[in-house]
Amino acid sequence: MQPWLIEAPVAVTVAAAGLAAYGAVYPRAQLFGATICRTNSARKLAVTFDDGPNPAITPKLLDLLDRYKAKATFFLIGRYVRECPELVKETVSRGHELGNHTELHPNLLRLNPTNVRVELRLCHDAIRGAIGTPPKWFRPPFGMRNPWVVPAARELGYRTVMWTLIPGDWQEKPAEWLIPRMQPIADRAQRNLANSSGRAVASTGDVLCLHDGGHRDLNADRSRTLAALEHWLPRWRDLGLEFVTIGEAVNTPAP
Ligand SMILES: [Zn+2]
Repeated sequence: MQPWLIEAPVAVTVAAAGLAAYGAVYPRAQLFGATICRTNSARKLAVTFDDGPNPAITPKLLDLLDRYKAKATFFLIGRYVRECPELVKETVSRGHELGNHTELHPNLLRLNPTNVRVELRLCHDAIRGAIGTPPKWFRPPFGMRNPWVVPAARELGYRTVMWTLIPGDWQEKPAEWLIPRMQPIADRAQRNLANSSGRAVASTGDVLCLHDGGHRDLNADRSRTLAALEHWLPRWRDLGLEFVTIGEAVNTPAP
């Protein structure tokens, strides 16, 4: 038998597995359903936070965001929403948007379609219970998708949101480590906004994925995330960036 007769199917299988892995984890992959990864203007930066609400950090974060008139989007874990409904209400009353980040933060790749729906539905109901309306945005835990995650989210009226930059603020490293990892946002803003229109070089801006909570326990220490934002928010503002929610990032006309 010629070797390629055996090897070709193996190569195809390996390529298919590689493609599936890409579709599952690569943040801007659209293989398993359309997702939002960018804002509609180079001027707009969408700052997003996962794994809250977190009584230890979220209130301080809300104050910091207010100081720079920054609006953000918080992807919440359902079981924490049930523990801290007042904090969730406060987040919305200060102009931020919410997203569904599942009930217990499992890796959805390992769940069958029924259990994916249960995870989404429980968080959906928790947020609706806290603020009266369900959110419009969904982000899968760990960014993991399979062929039924994005469609299951769509059934509940969600658009799935990924990111352009995830600097790894969950790692136990000092703010001095985290701050340079957020540099690409300033670099891109400098490149794209230098020519006055803000659209000539790139028509879309960044979606930054940070964490105000920890999926293992409530009250996670996210002081480094706060410190890194204290460093960057004034610098990003001075570069001409506007801090927008996901709704403003995709629905409001580009400036
Ligand atoms: Zn998460």
